[in-house]
Amino acid sequence: MSARRPEASNPRGRVSPEAVGALASNASGNMIGRHPSPLVPQRTSLMQEPVLVLNATYEPINVTAVRRAMVLLLKGVAQAEELHNSEVHSSAHSHKVPSVIRLVAYRHIPQQSRALSRKNILLRDRNTCQFCGKIFPSSELTLDHVIPRSRGGRSSWENLVACCYRCNNSKGDRTPEEAGLKLARRPRPFTLHTSRQLMRLIGHRDERWRKYLFY
Ligand SMILES: [Zn+2]
Repeated sequence: MSARRPEASNPRGRVSPEAVGALASNASGNMIGRHPSPLVPQRTSLMQEPVLVLNATYEPINVTAVRRAMVLLLKGVAQAEELHNSEVHSSAHSHKVPSVIRLVAYRHIPQQSRALSRKNILLRDRNTCQFCGKIFPSSELTLDHVIPRSRGGRSSWENLVACCYRCNNSKGDRTPEEAGLKLARRPRPFTLHTSRQLMRLIGHRDERWRKYLFY
């Protein structure tokens, strides 16, 4: 299949494809959590454009790429709810590119399936140092144990936050209170709620997503 974009005009109104990448698929086809820095813009191709995935109940559950969405449509696993203006052409056919698809059969989504990992913590914290509030590229962030490990602090969603090296150094082996630092917000597990927020962030690019995400 070759991808063609009839109006290749408007890169400006689009969300950063890196944010899209942040929701790009891993082996299970689940898109949220692959890339750690959703804030650095980068170009992408039509087949990698984000597609909102709805459960059979119209509940938004995921973001996938056009390529995978079209496979789901061709397999009959999902049906298109909203279409792009663009088409992709194979030798014999042309296909409308989906913007929103809906699973034909209801799929149970576990409340808390997100793996505890550096990239998911940076994603949860939007690449923002939780002490000084500044946004950094992933390479300039580390993970801080809010309660230091030497004090029995655990490696958990509730005790790990994104932290710039400067704040990390000034905090040292102390609690935030002892170091005179304040957490931007209480760290929480990466839940469906967090995923929904990221979908909304990406949803700003596509009017067709709005009615499913903003209510
Ligand atoms: Zn900082």
